[in-house]
Amino acid sequence: IQAQILDILKRLRQERNMAVMFITHDMGVIADVSDRVIVMYAGNVVEEAPVTQFFKNPLHPYTKGLLKAIPRPDMKNERLYMIKGTVPGPEEQYAMKGCKFCDRCEHALPKCREERPAMKDMGNGQKTACWLYDDGKGPAKARQ
Ligand code: SF4
Repeated sequence: IQAQILDILKRLRQERNMAVMFITHDMGVIADVSDRVIVMYAGNVVEEAPVTQFFKNPLHPYTKGLLKAIPRPDMKNERLYMIKGTVPGPEEQYAMKGCKFCDRCEHALPKCREERPAMKDMGNGQKTACWLYDDGKGPAKARQ
C-alpha cells in the first residue's frame, strides 16, 4: 500500500509539475521520493542536501546518528545503534543558548553549549549547522 501511495504521489507531481513536501523518519521513503532532504532537530534545520549527497556524505552528527540507526540485513545479534538521550522538552530547549543537540552529541565542543551554530554552505548543494564545520571543512573525524 505504501509503495502504491508513493507511486501516485510521484505521478501527480510529474503530471501537475508541482513540488511535494514529505515529512518522514523513513529513510527508505526518503531515498525513493526525494530530490532534496532537510533534516530538523528540535525545531531547527540542521542539515540540507541533495538526496544522493545526504546518504553518501551526511555531515551533521544528528543526521549521521539517524543513518547509523538503520537496521542492516547483515546484522546478527548486534545491538542496533541508538542516539543516546532524548529530545529536550520545550522549556529545556527555550533555556538552551547553544546547539540543541549538544547533550546527545558525541562530538560536542565547549562552544556548542554557548552559541547556536548558523547554517553554513558546505558546497555540492549541502548546508549544515554545526560548529565542527566552522572552517567550512570540518575535522576529519567528524566526517567519519
Ligand atoms: S554544534 Fe556541537 S553539539 Fe551541535 S551537533 Fe555540532 S558538534 Fe554536536
